[in-house]
Amino acid sequence: MRSLPVPIPAADDDKVIEALCEDPIFARGRQEWRAAYAAYRAVGGDPWAIDPLDVEKNLRDTRYKLYDGRRNSADLRAIRDDPRLNSCPMCGSPVIGSLDHYLPRATYSEFSIMRANLVPACMHCNSSTKGKTHRGDAEPERFIHPYFDAWADGPVWQVEIDGPYHAATFRPAPNPDLGEPRMTLVSFHLKNVLGKQFKISTVHLWANYHRTLAVNLDDYALDAVVARIDKDRQIAEITAGTNSWEAAFLRGLRATAPAIEHVRTRLLEFVGHG
Ligand SMILES: [Zn+2]
Repeated sequence: MRSLPVPIPAADDDKVIEALCEDPIFARGRQEWRAAYAAYRAVGGDPWAIDPLDVEKNLRDTRYKLYDGRRNSADLRAIRDDPRLNSCPMCGSPVIGSLDHYLPRATYSEFSIMRANLVPACMHCNSSTKGKTHRGDAEPERFIHPYFDAWADGPVWQVEIDGPYHAATFRPAPNPDLGEPRMTLVSFHLKNVLGKQFKISTVHLWANYHRTLAVNLDDYALDAVVARIDKDRQIAEITAGTNSWEAAFLRGLRATAPAIEHVRTRLLEFVGHG
C-alpha cells in the first residue's frame, strides 16, 4: 500500500510489443494490443474500465506464457529487487522479493509482460486472493494500484484495537479521511491482501510493544508514553513505509486511549513500578 513511480516510460513498454510483433503469431493482433496498453494507462489499470481482450485461445496462452520466459530477465528483476523498497507495496508486510500481476495474466494475458502491470510484492500477495482475483462484486471494489493511485502515498489505513485488552482483537480499517469511493476500495484491498501472517505479526507487536517502550523511556508518565508512540510511528513510517504493518498498528494504538493505558500498565509491571 504505497505509491511508486511507473518503472519505465510508456514508449519502452510499447517497444516490447513492437519487437514481439515481428513474430507472425503476434503480428495480427498488434493494433489491438497497442490499444489495450494505451487503455490500461488511461484508466490506471482499473479492472472496472478495461475488459480482457477477446482473442483465440492459442494467442491468449502464448501471451500468458511470455512472462514465464522473462520472469528472471534483468528488466523484471530490477522491478522486483528495487533497493528503495522497504515493505510490500501491496500489503505492507516487511517481506518483498516477488512480482505480482496487478491485472492477473490468467484473465488479462495481454498484460502478462507489461511492466506497468507488474508490481513488486511479497510471496503471500502473489499466491493469495490477490494473485487470483482482480476486483470485487461491485464497483469500485478493486486493489490499490501502486503505479496509478498516487493518493496511496499518504496513510490509507490503521489497525483498530478492540478490548478486552488482555485478549485484544485487531481490525484493519480504512482511513476515514480518504472519503468515498476510496474507503470502499481500501476496505476491499485490506480484506483481500492481509492474511494469517498479518494477524500473527500484530498479536506479536501488541504483546511486546511495552518492552520497546521500556528500552526507550526513562519516564513512564502517560504524556511520555504517548509522545514515544508518536515518535515510533514516525520512525516506522519513514523506515518501513507509511502503510507498513507497524505504522498502521501504531496509528491505531495512538487513536485508542484505553489501549494506550493498557500498554502503560504492562510497561509499569515490566519495569517493576506496577
Ligand atoms: Zn504483500
